[in-house]
Amino acid sequence: MKFDIEKIRSQFPVLHQEVYGKPLVYLDNAATTQKPQVVLDAISNYYTKDNSNIHRGAHALADRATGYFEETREAVREFIGAKEAAEIIFTKGTTESINLVAATFGRKFIKEGDEVIISTLEHHSNIVPWQMLCEEMGAELKIIPITDSGEIVFEEFEKLISPKTKLVSVVHASNALGTINPVKQIIDLAHAHGAKVMLDGAQSTSHLQIDVQELDCDFLAFSAHKLYGPTGLGVLYGKREILEAMPPFQGGGEMIKEVTFEKTTYNEIPFKFEAGTPNIGDVIAFKAALNFINDLGKSAIKEHEDNLLAYANELMLPIKGFQPVGTAKEKVSVLSFGINGMHPFDVGVMLDAKGVAVRTGHHCTQPLMKRLGLEGTVRASFAVYNTKSEVETLAEGVEKIARIKNK
Ligand code: PMP
Repeated sequence: MKFDIEKIRSQFPVLHQEVYGKPLVYLDNAATTQKPQVVLDAISNYYTKDNSNIHRGAHALADRATGYFEETREAVREFIGAKEAAEIIFTKGTTESINLVAATFGRKFIKEGDEVIISTLEHHSNIVPWQMLCEEMGAELKIIPITDSGEIVFEEFEKLISPKTKLVSVVHASNALGTINPVKQIIDLAHAHGAKVMLDGAQSTSHLQIDVQELDCDFLAFSAHKLYGPTGLGVLYGKREILEAMPPFQGGGEMIKEVTFEKTTYNEIPFKFEAGTPNIGDVIAFKAALNFINDLGKSAIKEHEDNLLAYANELMLPIKGFQPVGTAKEKVSVLSFGINGMHPFDVGVMLDAKGVAVRTGHHCTQPLMKRLGLEGTVRASFAVYNTKSEVETLAEGVEKIARIKNK
């Protein structure tokens, strides 16, 4: 192990509690990660010392808050390897980032008879906005199929893509199964056909090193709360020339250059897409979360999480009745499973009683569950602060629960 896990855990106050008299084992990190003390302090400091509206204030606090806010934009730029900070737009989350692209890029550039391609692995937030858009514009939504192990069938994607394809929007890493999609190949093929590519990075940004220039994706969406940062905050990255060609998303303050009753001119990017007072305190605190990740290093974090996933598989695969779901070769640290004869929700409740927090259900991927012939799964997802001993607690719990039904 490359880092001191106890030192890392000591930075997360929420982890040090008992539920039902048992130590909390938090394994619901794909839903949201816990926040380190530096993030909590940054939120508190902002409201204690700097609270002010940004960009137009003519006073010291407004200057300070604006400076910190824009520092986070620069930190996000660096985090994903974007060319310039103007390509970083703050949103409410991955969901809003995708909806922004659907409502602006989509309405302007996707017309009747055009096609949008997504995959079977998608979260509802990367399905529904495209369905809504296609319905409105008379375009068609095409779906890349997957194998039983939860990997997209690339040859089928090759068959689907055509000059009609205007956008391919795929999840980088699946929240339900952990599958890492071959996004570089997808992007290269899409571009060869003149289509733009959006990546849903909600799950990948916390585990994988991301360089948007190297990937050459046109858009990337992700959420701060899955990166040890605050809720209600997300990012949309877009290439400058595409963002400039897109109409604004919402109208209001901040996004304008000049307003008259006859005509309004719009602000430069990124402000054109940031109407109204943004989530200032959380944006400022997000920088502390990014620093926390950068200090540990993504590759060390990934190695730690991969080890936990491998250990979980080692302990649980031999359990009678344990059924892993999603066995792709390339995965982030997500373990979806079922227990023979048991409803996932019941398994979740029984694990909860042992202090183990997991997610159960369809994970906002109903079409994927349908494809796999499942109602849902139990999902354990690991983060930087999880330990081998917590994996053992999970495995012991699963073993006991499975024994009830699989004697
Ligand atoms: N896509 C994926 C793959 C996700 O895991 C999530 C969150 N579960 C989302 C999109 C939506 O993110 P948010 O709810 O933060 O907007």
